[in-house]
Amino acid sequence: NPDLPDLVVVGSGFFGLTIAERCAADLGLKVLVLERRYHLGGNAYSEFDPETGIEVHKYGTHLFHTSNERVWEYVNRFTEFTSYQHRVFGRYQGQVYSLPMNLALINSFFGKSHTPDEARALIAEQASEIDTKDAKNLEEKAISLIGRPLYEAFIKGYTAKQWQTDPTELSADIITRLPVRYNFDNRYFNDTYEGLPVDGYTAWLSRMAEHPNIEVRVDTDFFDVADDYKGKVPIVYTGPVDEYFDNREGRLSWRTVDLVQETLDVDDYQGTGVVNANDADVPFTRELEFKHLHPERAASYKPGRTVVVREYSRFAEEGDEPYYPINTAEDRAKLLKYRDLAEKEPMVLFGGRLGTYKYLDMHMAIASALSMYDNKLKPHFADGAELKSGGVDA
Ligand code: FAD
Ligand code: UDP
Repeated sequence: NPDLPDLVVVGSGFFGLTIAERCAADLGLKVLVLERRYHLGGNAYSEFDPETGIEVHKYGTHLFHTSNERVWEYVNRFTEFTSYQHRVFGRYQGQVYSLPMNLALINSFFGKSHTPDEARALIAEQASEIDTKDAKNLEEKAISLIGRPLYEAFIKGYTAKQWQTDPTELSADIITRLPVRYNFDNRYFNDTYEGLPVDGYTAWLSRMAEHPNIEVRVDTDFFDVADDYKGKVPIVYTGPVDEYFDNREGRLSWRTVDLVQETLDVDDYQGTGVVNANDADVPFTRELEFKHLHPERAASYKPGRTVVVREYSRFAEEGDEPYYPINTAEDRAKLLKYRDLAEKEPMVLFGGRLGTYKYLDMHMAIASALSMYDNKLKPHFADGAELKSGGVDA
């Protein structure tokens, strides 16, 4: 059928667009990208607020960072990056502290100056009440690493809000380590490269889809048109894996976030991009003020106005946006069954955050797509190798 594309990609997030771009630009394939939302780009999508001129990330703040040389080289083909470095603060009982936990936080929290060695000794002493190897839940593990006072101020309330579960009932594996820095370094990420796309995420994502061999069809749910393509052309599917199989092994559990946006009549609401709400009795987990992600755009903003978003975390119900895999033991058992089904599904590759039920940062989604291209799609299309399904190469 001459109307059929060479490849169908379901979902236009970073995973799907990387696959489409490589197959079109490197192999000259005709690629059809199906997207059920009204816009391309997946969760990294952003819009410029028409009234204030501020770029608002529609699905929560997206900070780009990577130490992967290949990913950095690849993304720089589509956008330049600003020199933005992410820093996060946390509000607790009427004071604001510098996160992640570092000497500035320790000094202000305990109300006196500590040398790095003094701070190390203090935290070791406070953490000595529980041995890490005996910790039976998240609370005990955290106390064994950072001590009770810091745990109760900065972890307990925030974690309970984010997971809607008492930390004594959460698995100790959720935190492998809690970093405490015994210096004043308060950069949030440790990666080699960090920055934000100079003219915004949507410009970047759109450039990835610019090749004339790529067609992105928005407002189109794959399941409404699946019969036109299934079994006829190779498909890369980046939607939820359980949904592909009609939830036949049960639904995987996710957390979602309600993002409540407000435009305020102040020029500067909180002085920085992200402030966590560490008090248990504040209902939201954090406040985002987007203008601070792009200080270099200050002259283009409408004075006296700012856009603020508050995040409320909760379990995703049917119809909600799935954001973070909860990954209980039950979920992992279901996932194994879905992986078996995926492996047997002819001509379909599953990838991305939803397709693999893995929390992937943007650079990880791109790296994973590049590796699917190298290991599966290019060998198939360029050398006629059999298209082997089954998960994603990590
Ligand atoms: P997505 O971006 O989710 O794209 C999947 C697309 O598939 C969606 O557009 C969806 O509509 C579409 N789709 C699903 N089913 C169908 C169907 N049946 N038919 C058609 N289309 C379908 N990463 C960072 O690196 N830094 C950050 O600061 C950061 N912050 C984040 C904050 C939040 C709240 C979330 C949720 C994620 C964050 N991420 C961040 C992760 C980043 O969003 C992901 O890495 C990226 O979205 C992964 O891309 P993806 O293509 O796998 O999935
Ligand atoms: N966390 C916390 N207090 C904070 C920030 C994070 O207790 O101020 C814990 C919490 O359990 C959270 C986890 O650390 O689920 C990861 O937080 P992070 O902000 O890194 O994740 P994000 O929600 O941005 O993916």
